[in-house]
Amino acid sequence: MRGKIIKGIAGFYYVDVVESGVYECKAKGVFRKEKKKPLVGDNVEIEILDEKEREGNLIHILPRKNELIRPASANVDQALVVFAVTKPSPHLHLLDRFLIMMEQAGIPVVLCFNKEDLGTEEQIGALKEIYRDCGCRLLFSSAKEETNISGIRELLEGKTTVIAGPSGVGKSSLINLLHPQANMETGSVSRKIQRGRHTTRHAELFALGENSYIMDTPGFSSLYVSDLEKEELKYYFPEFAPYEGNCRFQGCDHIHEPDCAVKKAVEEGKIHRSRYDNYRAFYEELKEQRRY
Ligand code: GDP
Ligand code: ZN
Repeated sequence: MRGKIIKGIAGFYYVDVVESGVYECKAKGVFRKEKKKPLVGDNVEIEILDEKEREGNLIHILPRKNELIRPASANVDQALVVFAVTKPSPHLHLLDRFLIMMEQAGIPVVLCFNKEDLGTEEQIGALKEIYRDCGCRLLFSSAKEETNISGIRELLEGKTTVIAGPSGVGKSSLINLLHPQANMETGSVSRKIQRGRHTTRHAELFALGENSYIMDTPGFSSLYVSDLEKEELKYYFPEFAPYEGNCRFQGCDHIHEPDCAVKKAVEEGKIHRSRYDNYRAFYEELKEQRRY
């Protein structure tokens, strides 16, 4: 039987099998010998030991599409990054840092600004401007007024999505709105969905429907960009791309160099200043890291 690891605790792996539910499995010795550690998100083959007790053995891990180090997980299709339009006002430096991290991991981002109901037209317009060319999908929602929930649900369909964002922005509210429908759709008691409030230290997947899973990410504020050369950073800002190659100096980092096409585009309002300023801040950070 094939399933997906949705949780791992103390040597036990919980494997969700579509239409059968969750089995508690142990990894056989072969994994230890191969030094291959099963991860949440792994698609696996299991053998059933006891159908009544819902126990089994992991016998094989299917090839991984990708791997995230933190939270430790495999086969994540996309990230839903949630910030609030206001209350709390979005910390854009943190947001941009997250976009870089996900890009590094090769994971597409859907950027969602929740609490649209509280935002003024100016606030919403400004965010649209800043993230217009960031290379990710952009959407606005209100968990309170239940606007655009179906838009989010559509994006999650058939995928494994990691949900991230600072606390207080409405992640739980959004997830709770996504749940009831999922229950109705699957109509299966065994595929129960419980949001583990006490286990957020570990990566854990929640089934939203057949083959749709979401994962909450703890420790979002401690993200940092690493293993990135400062000269590479510019490639993580898609809005710079049209100007690359137009600077006076080849290999221009768009920092202090004269006749820089990117800086000119910032002056002319073609690249948003918020994005450029964060680029500079990250660049300085990477430069510092190199000294040690
Ligand atoms: P989390 O920490 O990101 O999971 O955020 P919560 O879902 O716990 O929401 C934090 C607070 O914001 C709660 O008081 C929610 O009722 C409120 N909230 C969530 N979404 C919205 C929204 O779209 N509009 C408004 N006005 N309040 C919201
Ligand atoms: Zn330049």
